[in-house]
Amino acid sequence: MSKNKDPNKAIRAAAHPDRPGEDCRAKPGIFHPEVDVRRCEGKGDCAVVCPYGVFEIGRIADDTFDTMPPRVKLKLWVHGKKTAYTPHADACRACGLCVVACPEHAIRLVRTQ
Ligand code: SF4
Ligand code: SF4
Repeated sequence: MSKNKDPNKAIRAAAHPDRPGEDCRAKPGIFHPEVDVRRCEGKGDCAVVCPYGVFEIGRIADDTFDTMPPRVKLKLWVHGKKTAYTPHADACRACGLCVVACPEHAIRLVRTQ
């Protein structure tokens, strides 16, 4: 579980009126965050606010990059080809903090069970 590096971002996200899952106490594994790599700019607010260490920021895979349209490639390139991954998606508790913290509206929660 990663330590929250900016409590102010998490506090702002917790108070966001559009936050889904505020009262949700989903067990791990029922919901996963899904990142739209076309929107993601890889700056990592999601990783900062997630209490369960679901996200990591890394370089987008070359084969994924190659499938992107030119305007998305340019955007990814400008942002150092960084994107959010969810290596610990199974730990997600559907609290919704990442959804409202993402400035690019790149995250949605999907039910997996
Ligand atoms: S907060 Fe949104 S834009 Fe930023 S890294 Fe996470 S998914 Fe990408
Ligand atoms: S909804 Fe899931 S991935 Fe997003 S911050 Fe909450 S626990 Fe983390």
